[in-house]
Amino acid sequence: MDQFYPPARIEWPGPNQYRSANGAPGPEYWQQRADYHITARLDTVLQSLQGTVQLQYTNNSPDTLRFVWLQLDQNLYRPGSAGSMLFPADSRWGVRGFSGGYDLSNIRVEGQAATPRVYDTMMQLMLPTPLKPRGGNTTITMDFRFRVPEHGSDRMGRDGPLYEIAQWYPRMAVYDDVRGWNTDLYLGQGEFYLEYGDIDFSVTVPAGYTVAASGMLQNPRDVLTDEQRERLVRAAKTREVIPIITVAESHARVTPGTKTWHFRAENVRDVAWAAAPDFRWDATSWNGILAQSYYEWPKAGKAWEAGAEQTQWTIRHYSETFFPFPYPQATSVAGPVGGMEYPMFVMVHAGEDSVSVFSTINHEHGHEWFPMIVGSNERRYPWMDEGFNTYINAFAKELRWRDTVIIESMVDNWRSAVDAEIDVPVMTAADNIPASALGAIAYRKPAVLLLTLRNEIVGPELFDAAFREYIRRWAFKHPTPGDFFRTIENSTGHDLSWYWRGFWYTTDLLDVGIDSVTQRQQVGQNLAVVSLHRATSIVFPVRLRLKYVNGTTSDFNLPANIWANGDRFDAVFAVPAQVVGARLWPDPSVPDWNHSNDSWGNAPQSDQPRPVTRR
Ligand SMILES: [Zn+2]
Repeated sequence: MDQFYPPARIEWPGPNQYRSANGAPGPEYWQQRADYHITARLDTVLQSLQGTVQLQYTNNSPDTLRFVWLQLDQNLYRPGSAGSMLFPADSRWGVRGFSGGYDLSNIRVEGQAATPRVYDTMMQLMLPTPLKPRGGNTTITMDFRFRVPEHGSDRMGRDGPLYEIAQWYPRMAVYDDVRGWNTDLYLGQGEFYLEYGDIDFSVTVPAGYTVAASGMLQNPRDVLTDEQRERLVRAAKTREVIPIITVAESHARVTPGTKTWHFRAENVRDVAWAAAPDFRWDATSWNGILAQSYYEWPKAGKAWEAGAEQTQWTIRHYSETFFPFPYPQATSVAGPVGGMEYPMFVMVHAGEDSVSVFSTINHEHGHEWFPMIVGSNERRYPWMDEGFNTYINAFAKELRWRDTVIIESMVDNWRSAVDAEIDVPVMTAADNIPASALGAIAYRKPAVLLLTLRNEIVGPELFDAAFREYIRRWAFKHPTPGDFFRTIENSTGHDLSWYWRGFWYTTDLLDVGIDSVTQRQQVGQNLAVVSLHRATSIVFPVRLRLKYVNGTTSDFNLPANIWANGDRFDAVFAVPAQVVGARLWPDPSVPDWNHSNDSWGNAPQSDQPRPVTRR
């Protein structure tokens, strides 16, 4: 098959009334809504959490629903769960001989007792009356209880008295126009896909504990001192970092009784929280958005004293560059989880290394844009989560550290997965990517491909506008890969089928080479014939630098269409003087896999690697 011919849009939904051909949500686009009221109590003696969830579910789809599916992510910690069989117990996602999972009771739909059908981490509930299309809604309530695992697949857990609580209440699965119910199990490596709604939640903890959470604290008078409340008001109006709980105040005290912390988060996919008796708490703000850090002291490490500022910087940078942060606060918590994101709330490893802590805070809060604002399916498409985030992180890192050059190190990481023969297509679902290739395939390869698309193929001006348009169109919605591909093509004006197919759906690598350069005189002109070939199925526009006998050079850009008729192309240029050398890719960041055929003769120099932000 002709490699350049626009391929069939594999797995691209639409165009239809729900998803338009131009990549935007269609005129009849719909999505479901899930609003929650949750109350929960943390028992630090039994190391368990119990609570009640009341869920209001709105069916905006054109379909009548006779049953619903909910996600029971804590069932990953049940003996024999699918995820515990899949990932080694001592691995990052592994279940470490812990016997957990949900005890559910008093499950009711519209007040009537319901019998669940539980399938590993999924639960089906039959509805007593069918749920009407286009606005029908129903109420589901249940009590839940689980033991908190010490190691919760690096997404939650505990360390001594510190609890990090996530994927903690039964959550509605997504029902969408592409797959209907999304019932992919929680296995550990794949993250989550959830509906938007408002979540009101209260957690009762020992009285000496401080709770950090998604959303805004609703009852500061009940849980904070007058002095702490006054400091918070000050922090909300300044870019300076204000200690809300100072070093001197952070030592754990045993206080009898309990306190209930009440939070509310609007237009979110999820909520998470952390609690400890010995947090330091810093806060600052930007543009009215509170940026906060919570960390045990001195256990969390010196780097955390910059946590609130790093959070503020991150929120500001991504707001100014990509899309305004839509929530009232952003929180970073130090603890046993290496790095994990939830709306307005991220968990980051403790540490002394401020570059590492900054990189992780910056990465995890980058997830507020992908996938907390742009709500893609992380379990299916990790590249729309980690890949997009790693792409935007490249700009942030260069801005924070002016001399950083990002692309080459990411190409090296991709190369390591290729060399280890664990490379899989970017379109692979999260749980099917070898764990040791996750960083390369879900994070760096898609980030390199997006940077390459931006810098080498469509240019920064068109790409940046198209990428922002994608965020604007799909904020608080559920885009698919096709919606992204279509938006980029429509917005940049480029047919990029060859790019998506080659790099997203296969593991082929770019390898273009120069076979020879010959020269001839014709009608008084010097002509140079540069014979090119490509060694793989990947087509790519060719950038070429020629060097002349007098030492000068000139650059030529050949479109991807040169490969329309096969894997060889003779480029014929009128040149001002005798050619003595040639080099592909004057910008050395192009991910051509084989450099041995990239130059000919007395080849000219490449440029220095260029930062992505300064093109
Ligand atoms: Zn991430």
